[in-house]
Amino acid sequence: MSEFDDQTPLLPLARIEELRSLLHRANRFYYVEAEPIMSDSEFDRLLAELARLEADHPEAHDPDSPTSRVGGEPVSGFETIAHARRMLSIDNTYSIEDVVAWHDRVVKALDGRAPRYVCEPKIDGVAINLRYESGRLAAAVTRGDGERGDLVTGNVRAMDSVPLVLGDDPPSILEIRGEIYMPDDAFERVNADRETRGEQLFANARNSTAGTLKSLDPAVIRARGLRFCAHGRGEIVGLEAVATYSELLDRIRALGLSVSSRTSLCATIDEVIECIESFGRERAEVGFGTDGMVVRVDDFASQEALGETAKAPRWCIAFKYPAEQAVTRLLDVGWQVGKGGTLTPRATMEPVFVAGTTVQHATMHNIEEIRRKDIRIGDRVVIEKAGEIIPQIIEPVASERNGDERPIEPPAECPDCGGGVEQEGPKLYCTNPECDAQFRERLKWFVGRGQMDIDGFGEKLVDQLLDAGLVSHFADLFRLERASLLTLERMGETSADNILAALQEARNRGLARVLAGLGIRHIGTSAAKVLARAFPDAQALLAAEESELEALPDFGAITAKSLHDYLASDSARSTFDQLAAVGVSLESEQVSRSDDSSVFSDQVVVLTGTLEGFTRSKLAEQLESLGAKVTGSVSAKTTLLIAGENAGSKLAKAESLGVEIWDEPRLVEELSRLRS
Ligand SMILES: [Zn+2]
Repeated sequence: MSEFDDQTPLLPLARIEELRSLLHRANRFYYVEAEPIMSDSEFDRLLAELARLEADHPEAHDPDSPTSRVGGEPVSGFETIAHARRMLSIDNTYSIEDVVAWHDRVVKALDGRAPRYVCEPKIDGVAINLRYESGRLAAAVTRGDGERGDLVTGNVRAMDSVPLVLGDDPPSILEIRGEIYMPDDAFERVNADRETRGEQLFANARNSTAGTLKSLDPAVIRARGLRFCAHGRGEIVGLEAVATYSELLDRIRALGLSVSSRTSLCATIDEVIECIESFGRERAEVGFGTDGMVVRVDDFASQEALGETAKAPRWCIAFKYPAEQAVTRLLDVGWQVGKGGTLTPRATMEPVFVAGTTVQHATMHNIEEIRRKDIRIGDRVVIEKAGEIIPQIIEPVASERNGDERPIEPPAECPDCGGGVEQEGPKLYCTNPECDAQFRERLKWFVGRGQMDIDGFGEKLVDQLLDAGLVSHFADLFRLERASLLTLERMGETSADNILAALQEARNRGLARVLAGLGIRHIGTSAAKVLARAFPDAQALLAAEESELEALPDFGAITAKSLHDYLASDSARSTFDQLAAVGVSLESEQVSRSDDSSVFSDQVVVLTGTLEGFTRSKLAEQLESLGAKVTGSVSAKTTLLIAGENAGSKLAKAESLGVEIWDEPRLVEELSRLRS
């Protein structure tokens, strides 16, 4: 029996409290102090005991219990909400001279007084703002554009490295900014796993972090081992006595938030430079991606005095380490076919070790770049890798040529289908609309989340369907039958039924999603929305004049011509006809317009609990189109709470603030009243 076991029988409620505080503490020691106080198996055992007790005692429900991390339901999208204080970016430089010049400006602005600085490694991840209210995690919002970001609270709650409840004596409001990142070993695990499942690999740990954070399933996030490290502050109420950044770090560390173990306090600019240089020698070994060193003025009063420019604070600068380079020989260049028919050059090189891995492939952007840099096959080339798995070719070493090098010729025909090749701008395209390789990429795009959003369709399934000859046109997807799906490898009856149900649902996504999904050149998601607003259905769009298209918002002559040519083609007509024939809606959804009489005008609305008939993101969009502002947490500004089943702390808070509360039937009633 270990020290954490129940020695004397406690009343269940007291034991629940004890276990919660013990498990919160265990997380803190593991992630913040890096000194585990119990083994993983013991943690899991106590967590299971807590879950059992909580199931027997629903009266002890606490949304921030350690058991709640995996309880979150998959989400269907993310709301965007405004930051209480803007999240600025930091000015970058690659030169030590610039850092010294910055120091000189700081000293001058502070009337000749040299401040103390704090140096902190710049972690390569996703910036996030964590908001704690009365010591409990209330919201997690990505940086976004600095003004507004995505509300990802549910996903961040699934990260063991972020405390749900702060330690003793927390301030009433604490917003801490920091970086969510994936350590190298976790990143390797994720990619190895994706490789075995035939999924596309993440190019670097930062993309992997961003992808994970936007995952719709909290269980995935929990399994991926994301970490958090604090590096700044937002709105804070109740820590007025803290006067410096270094004190703030000590304080929040004591509250249970992870801070960098490599923070240095520097009394002079020489110490800062020494710190930058010494970390430059060690950073390959820290176990996670860093790309620089952030230097900031320590005391808040001086920060205030220095102020900020439109985009970055003047009291802070980031020194960026140069990307690692290596020299190797270019052996060959192949051309990969993308969904829009683009042919992208891909270099094969003699294997070379750079930034921690051996590489033999590199990317180049396009044929223009190859010509401009005069890169030739057989050249010694400089490659550079900045956190990515696939490096880039920077330039040839022309002085090492021996005359045997050959220029890189654009392919005369598509390497996949043998179709014609033409150049538009700097890029080469396969001109064959029937090109198999293109269609494969386009189909993967078509089923993707931002387009037709067909649940259960990964790249693997698309490959399987094409290889089995079951699909050779977009419309064929909707002709799939249970029996033919079951002939695919590792396809069970449940999966097949789920796929058919997802296809059924996808038939009603509407014209904007179909247009975005077809991968028409120049027509991305936003252009597709513009078209769906302007035309009621595909027939009207097919009949449009080029001049009508050119007059649309954000459409220029090139886009209009290219789209018009496409719409006039036999292949476009056949695509639309076939989609209509299999029951795919080609009509534009009618978006309700904001009008003054709407009961939602100027309301500040919070959504909580499970709503049967709505997805959160769609509902938020709808309410905003009716003039409401949808936010993530209940505050004094909230005017309306829409509470579904199992609403928790937000409902309690709204009640205590006297906010108007609607249940789902009331919401449905109000919405239908608007329509009548
Ligand atoms: Zn082709």
